[in-house]
Formats: sequence, structure tokens, C-alpha cells
Amino acid sequence: MNQNKLFRLTRIRLALYYAIVMGLILSIFAFGFYRAVFHAHVVALDSEIESVAGTLHDSIELKLQSPGRLEPLAHQLFPNIDKCGTGATNCIQQQPDSKRHLLGIVTKSSYYIRFFDTSGKLIATAGYHPEGLPDVFNQKTWQFLKDSKGKDYHQITLALHTQNYQDWGYMQVGRSLQEFNHYLDSVKLVSVLGLLIAMVMIASASWWLSGLAMQPIYQSYRQIQQFTADVAHELRTPLAATGATVESALLMSQIDEEETRDILQTIQRQNQRLTTLVVDLLMLARLDKQAQKLQRENCCLNDIVSDLVEEFEAMAAAAGVKLTSLIQVEQPVDIMGNSDQLYRLFSNLIVNAIQYTPTGREVTVLLERNDYNAIIKVQDTGIGIPKHELTQIFHRFYRVSSDRSRSTGGSGLGLAIVQAIVHSHHGSIDVQSELGKGSTFTIKLPFNARPINSVHSISIWKMLYKSSRK
Ligand code: ADP
Repeated sequence: MNQNKLFRLTRIRLALYYAIVMGLILSIFAFGFYRAVFHAHVVALDSEIESVAGTLHDSIELKLQSPGRLEPLAHQLFPNIDKCGTGATNCIQQQPDSKRHLLGIVTKSSYYIRFFDTSGKLIATAGYHPEGLPDVFNQKTWQFLKDSKGKDYHQITLALHTQNYQDWGYMQVGRSLQEFNHYLDSVKLVSVLGLLIAMVMIASASWWLSGLAMQPIYQSYRQIQQFTADVAHELRTPLAATGATVESALLMSQIDEEETRDILQTIQRQNQRLTTLVVDLLMLARLDKQAQKLQRENCCLNDIVSDLVEEFEAMAAAAGVKLTSLIQVEQPVDIMGNSDQLYRLFSNLIVNAIQYTPTGREVTVLLERNDYNAIIKVQDTGIGIPKHELTQIFHRFYRVSSDRSRSTGGSGLGLAIVQAIVHSHHGSIDVQSELGKGSTFTIKLPFNARPINSVHSISIWKMLYKSSRK
């Protein structure tokens, strides 16, 4: 699959998953909110019905004298009470009593009251008249009912007693839920609309976030692509040189000893170049992986610096460069680290300094310290590095000027390795340079560093180093 398509698909998938998860979470919240509103209203409604029913019950009970008989006084309490025969349909509508009544709440259109005798027969109704409400008596305290038009009611049933504590019958007080249902419908509508708007916002946010999340992966993929192309390019050069040498040798009808030696030397040189490149790549890969624990040991930087200066004196002399060390500490500077890596680190810097310093000038390696760090400076008086390229020189395969560097035979991995080793020792590297005047690479290595990776290839590299590199 085309890589761009793969990235796009992954981004879509990521955005979708994110939107689904967020949508689910929001839906749960919206449902919870709706239930909370519903519950709060049911509780408020129940206590309203309860208090209305309680007030009516207490006002009526004192005036009831004989079971199943509504005293005329009830008419004063309920202005529109209807007496019933065998069922609700037989209730005779009475003219509203013009006299003042005591319980104004039942005149509200949402409340009805029904009276049943002890046998469950409907005696009278008052207040609001729901059409076709079932009149079969049910003793359950709280009930939800529906009338013939499908309207909902919530009803409470209370027992009534006469003045001398005889069972009189029952009173049911019910309230229409129309208002309540309208309110809940509007809450539902607002929740659903809110959820839809939130989902649209989440969808765009998740698209944007997935883009952000993909960016480093995409960048790293591009880097790997570039790296692979660079590696292939670097490997091709010595392979092509070897191939061409062998090919031209095969075309010769006769080869004398001197020519054979020349050919073999060319092949050996290219082979060494290939080996160095592969070892460098292996080292970087291992430094990247940071999988193995670094074998730490006490490393005396004074010894490492003196050793390396001694080792590279001949190379510097051959290039007409004066190489010196300046150890500005009286006590030995010891750090916990990997000596193979530290040798590699400083030798890369010293070799670069010698290579990029013209004949007759100097390279100095300084060793200093402060309370927390050992400080090593590799200072040259060479060609310098342009300011805008100072950060890029640590990138893999990067060369300031391909032509200039190619003449040194470097692959552009030297400083990348230096930086990786410094990081594995929890140190820092800084470079200052002025074109034509020289460069100073400053490395700070903390005394209490806990490096994390080990590179076994360094010993091999050390063997190969002197003969092959630069
Ligand atoms: P190379 O193998 O090409 O030397 P490095 O990673 O060691 O690769 O260095 C990267 C680039 O940085 C080199 O191509 C070189 O141009 C520049 N460079 C490194 N050290 C110095 C220095 N001391 N003076 C000037 N240029 C330098």
C-alpha cells in the first residue's frame, strides 16, 4: 500500500476511534444528566402530590361521620365535586359551589381527587376530570395511570377514617404528568442536540489531534526513509569502486605482480571503508536501541586524553598540525562511564579537528572540571563551520559541504556517534565556531551519570580505526 495512503488511513482510524470513545463517554454523561433531571423532578412531583394529598386528607377526615358517605361539607372543600353511581361515567356533574372553598389547589387543572368506599366502589370525583381514567380501585400507594387520550397521571392512594375511627374508604389524589413530560421532552431535545453539536466538535478536534499525533511518526518515517537512502548511497560507492576495479582487471589479458598488488590494495581500501561504515551504523543502531545496560567502569579522563593525544600525534604531524593536550586539573578526573565509548567519542572529535585544520596550525585538547561535570574541549584553529550549519552537523550523514568532506573520506556519521555517546552518558555537547578561525567542541560529562547502553562493537572499531578511518 502507498505509504501516504497508509498514513491517511491510520489518521482516519485514529480520529474515528477517538471520536467513538469520546462520543460514548459524552452519551453516558448526557444520559446520566437526563436521569438526574428526571429523578429530581419525580422526587419534587411526588412530594408535591404527597403534600396536597396530605392536606386534603387531614382536612376531610375530621369531617367524615359515617363510612362511604360524603358529608355536605365536602362540597365546601371541593367546588366541583361529582357524585357517582355505578362508575365514573355515571358521575353527575354538579354546579360549582359559589361558596368559598378551602382547598384551592384542586381547582388547578392538573389535579383530580377520587373517593372510593371500603368495597372499592367509586363514590365521587373532584378537580380535573381525566377522560377514560380506569376506575377499578387499586390499593397500591403510588401508581402511574393513563387516560383514554394516552395522557399520563401519577396518583397516590390514602385510606380515610370517620371521626370515630371507623374505616370510611379511600381517597386518590392524582396529578397530570403532561407538564412534566413536556419539560422532559425539552430536556431530551436539548441533550440530543447538545450531543450532536458536541460530536461534530469532537470529530473535528479528533481529526486535528490525530494529525498532531501522526506528525512525529510521519517525520520519523521520513527520516528512516532518508536514512535508508543515505545508507544505500554510502554502501554503493565502495561497492561500485570494487566492482569497477575487478571488472577492468578481468578485461586485462595479462596482469603483472605490481598491477595485481595495486588492484588488491584498491579492493582492500574499499573493503575497509565498507567495514567502517557498517560498524558505524551498527554502533548507532545499538546506541538508538538503548536496550542493553552499559558496562560502567571508572574512567580516568586524564589517561584517556593523554592516550589519544599520543595516539594521534603521528597523524597530526603528517598533516602538519600541532596537537597538544592541556590538562588544567591537579587531581585525576574520574567519571563512571564506558571507556570504549569515551575513546570513540574523543577520537572522532580529534580526528575531525586535525582533518579540518590547515597545515601549520594547532589543535588543543583541554581537560577541566567544575563541581558536577568533567569538561573536555577539542579546540582547533581550522576552517570553521558556518553558523547556520552548527546544529545540522550532528545529523546522520550530514556534511557541511559534500565536496569538502568527501575529500576527507568521512561518511558524515562521526558527529552523530559523538552526540549519541554523550547522551548515553547523560552529558551535553556544545559547539562554537567561526569561519576561517576554528571550532571548539565542548563536552560536559556529569560525575554521577548513569549511562544506559552498551556498544560491543567499539572494540572491533578500535581495531579497525587506526588503519581505515580517514
Ligand atoms: P565526517 O565523517 O564527514 O567528518 P562528521 O559527522 O564527523 O562527518 O562531521 C560532519 C561535518 O561537520 C563534516 O562534514 C565537517 O564538514 C563538519 N566538521 C566536523 N568537525 C569539524 C571541525 N572541527 N571543523 C570544521 N568542520 C567540521
